[in-house]
Amino acid sequence: MKNPTQCLLWKKAHLSPADLDLEFVEAISRGAHIERGLFRCRECGQVYFHEWYEHVNFKHDSYMYDTYIPVNSKEEIKELTETKSSSELLQFFPQLHGSFTNGLKDSVQWLESSEE
Ligand SMILES: [Zn+2]
Repeated sequence: MKNPTQCLLWKKAHLSPADLDLEFVEAISRGAHIERGLFRCRECGQVYFHEWYEHVNFKHDSYMYDTYIPVNSKEEIKELTETKSSSELLQFFPQLHGSFTNGLKDSVQWLESSEE
């Protein structure tokens, strides 16, 4: 995947959950605790593959994870759509990863490949 160098989300030093105000494009799949779809940056038009994943533990605390992967072609979207689990998405870089744990330790950050 290419780094979305033109995008404000990429350029901004400290992202907050409020920065993830992207325009919804279309849904890819929907489950009880996992949703996938496409979003578009309102400013530059960059398309992001998005996965929302909720993990609920035995105490019914819920942890939510958002992953945004910039995509530039139908082939890239297809490749991501064909992954079967959240962990398979971890092989794609860069990806913007947000984690929301009941408002306690919210974070939004880019994960980049270490092998370059
Ligand atoms: Zn943008």
